[in-house]
Amino acid sequence: MKNPKIGVVTLGCPKNTTDTEVMLGILKEAGLEVTFDNDEAQLCLINTCAFIEDARRESVKTLIELADEGKELIITGCLAQHYKEELLGEIPEVRALVGTGDLTKIADVVKAVIADSSLRIVEVSDVPNDYHEEVLPRLNIGFGASAYLKIAEGCDHRCTFCIIPMLRGDFRSRSIESLVEEAKYLVKNGAREIILISQDSTYYGLDIYKRMALADLLRALHEIEDLHWIRIMYFYPSETNVELLKTIAELPKVVKYVDIPLQHSHPEVLSSMARPQKPEAVIEAIRKYIPDVAIRSTFIVGFPGETDEQFEHLHTFISEQRLNRLGVFTYSKQTEVPSGNMPDQISEKLKKSRRKRIMELQHGISTEANQKLVGRTIEVLIEGFDEAKGLYVGRSQWDAPQVDNQVYVQDPDGDVIIGDFVKVLIQEARPYDLFGMAKPAS
Ligand code: SF4
Repeated sequence: MKNPKIGVVTLGCPKNTTDTEVMLGILKEAGLEVTFDNDEAQLCLINTCAFIEDARRESVKTLIELADEGKELIITGCLAQHYKEELLGEIPEVRALVGTGDLTKIADVVKAVIADSSLRIVEVSDVPNDYHEEVLPRLNIGFGASAYLKIAEGCDHRCTFCIIPMLRGDFRSRSIESLVEEAKYLVKNGAREIILISQDSTYYGLDIYKRMALADLLRALHEIEDLHWIRIMYFYPSETNVELLKTIAELPKVVKYVDIPLQHSHPEVLSSMARPQKPEAVIEAIRKYIPDVAIRSTFIVGFPGETDEQFEHLHTFISEQRLNRLGVFTYSKQTEVPSGNMPDQISEKLKKSRRKRIMELQHGISTEANQKLVGRTIEVLIEGFDEAKGLYVGRSQWDAPQVDNQVYVQDPDGDVIIGDFVKVLIQEARPYDLFGMAKPAS
């Protein structure tokens, strides 16, 4: 192959997207050309996800489709980390595998593959623990004015349904200095919102500073000029870190949004999941210390052994807590983790019907929460223009990209610019969307 363009496919969560962006930055710096049009590429880099069965299936489907189109494949990420023998054995088009802790080697791997067509390279560390500390180049493929900042990698918890610690290793934070430097770089390149991500952002700093240091990181990031919003994804509900909650309330740039996966409410199910107890106490503390906060959570229904009574406990909990945003997943069995071998696995039919009941419940809760915003003027980050509706579309501080509500905005004065923060008078609320009018810039 002579100077080929490298096609890119990124699958899975925002954490994976940031890894892809780092790899693209490294490839670009090494003088390699990348393209998002795979028709132009003979060699494709696919950053895969293996979190749950559906994600693995999607990853494998993408690989097979590209192989069938005659592409040669460089597979990175979770699937490469966990299934290297299977991938090498079953897909002859695989030219290289790069594990979750080895992404900084991507340029060397790609160059070697291009130079010698007989080579197959495997760079997969057994324990994926060499997370980078230095600020690496990044090519932002994210969401315009928003950029993700991965503050830590891996996880020290051992929830019985979760394969992440096997795929990503133990929890390891990056230093405040390196994160501030990377955030400044992202802001300089157009980011107005920085979204902090990791498997468990509340634990940030515990490994390197011997204390929870997310509040310190927020204060340091808050100093960055031209940065407008800081959003934190994925709190862990173990204990109430009052200092953190007060810091979120106090710093204007930190959005009043808490994403805290609770997974269940029933004490026995939580214990079987190896998750913290008393989720209601954590919610109470968040609401107490952060006025006007929106809380997002995710839950799993159909965990092995979940009885009707335990499910009803969850249903009542959600009905009483009235969380602003909510995702429900049906339990996905994986035999590599303890829950996959637990007795009393629940049928798919029952899991789906339980999920449906929670979604129906949340439909009403979400409508009610959105109705409360009608008549209020809120700040919206404009992210695009919806041609079909003839309206601008954006997000409020209470909504994360891709998973939460959108705000559709009329622009009678022609002032609105994509990437700007605009004051919008909310005039109509639907279950998962808001509609409003841009106010003239003062
Ligand atoms: S805290 Fe999250 S990432 Fe860590 S083991 Fe539990 S579910 Fe997995």
